[in-house]
Amino acid sequence: MDMQTSFLDRLFESGLLIDTGVDGLYGRSGQFEDVISGFERLIGQYGGADGAEAMRFPPGMNRALFEKSGYMKSFPQLAGTVHSFCGSELDHMSLLQCIDAGEEWTKGQEATDIVLTPAACYPLYPTVAKRGPLPNAGALFDLQSYCFRHEPSKDPARQQLFRMREYVCMGTEDHVTAFRQLWMDRGVEMMSKLGLDVVIDVANDPFFGRAGKMMVNNQRDQNLKFELLIPVTSSAKPTACMSFNYHQDSFGQKWGLALEDGSVAHTACVGFGLERIALALFAHHGLEVETWPIAVREALWA
Ligand code: ATP
Ligand code: ZN
Repeated sequence: MDMQTSFLDRLFESGLLIDTGVDGLYGRSGQFEDVISGFERLIGQYGGADGAEAMRFPPGMNRALFEKSGYMKSFPQLAGTVHSFCGSELDHMSLLQCIDAGEEWTKGQEATDIVLTPAACYPLYPTVAKRGPLPNAGALFDLQSYCFRHEPSKDPARQQLFRMREYVCMGTEDHVTAFRQLWMDRGVEMMSKLGLDVVIDVANDPFFGRAGKMMVNNQRDQNLKFELLIPVTSSAKPTACMSFNYHQDSFGQKWGLALEDGSVAHTACVGFGLERIALALFAHHGLEVETWPIAVREALWA
């Protein structure tokens, strides 16, 4: 059995994760959630004084805005759409017959106005754009959302529905790149408080297809994405637990985000993978929180 499957089995046995029968879709125990809330408190200790405006969106977003975001161009393989039954009584009858016969019944389902949120920051840009120009000094937002990505896996750190906490910064190039660097430094410090070994490395998003290869190269050449990696099921291939993304002015252009002086806003976001960080802690310190080093428990809960 490989390391990922055996870690997943141990998480199920301990009750920390709850099997639903679908890879990447798990329930969580109270203990698992306590680790996540402890970590979110730690995030607050580092970022709380920065004055970010908090917003919480549901795990579904406006489909028209999702279309405008271009997500389907870059990551069609990951997207999840919400479909519903919109038929007649006759359609309903045949749907039930299909289910009874164990046949495919979802073909008649119709797209709703909602798609599943792929990253916590997606609903933010159009929301902020609607408000009008941003102050020249920039703006900062604090987000958390369940996100969906269709990437079923036996790796417990690769889930289909997981939570992302994000800070998003908008302003000049200097302002948002300084924000990104600040969080890379904070991320390293936070993980060291938690007794976790980290490396930061340049990274890329999983752009789809042949055209995607060029996007990958471009993203890496320009250092647009960094990840903070922590060993979870493998030290040779550590897991991305945070990402630090600089979008240049691409989202500013796309959504019409302008500063008061008329210039196009640059944006950057830093994302914490909350389940991944909890899993890194369980992998490193053991499945029993009571046996974790005192310093780690204090960093989370004192
Ligand atoms: P990966 O390269 O591992 O697929 P990513 O580059 O797609 O990750 P981002 O889009 O930067 O990840 O998402 C921000 C953060 O959300 C990641 O750093 C990670 O911690 C977390 N994350 C991303 N995908 C998943 C997933 N499938 N399950 C759990 N957490 C995830
Ligand atoms: Zn983001």
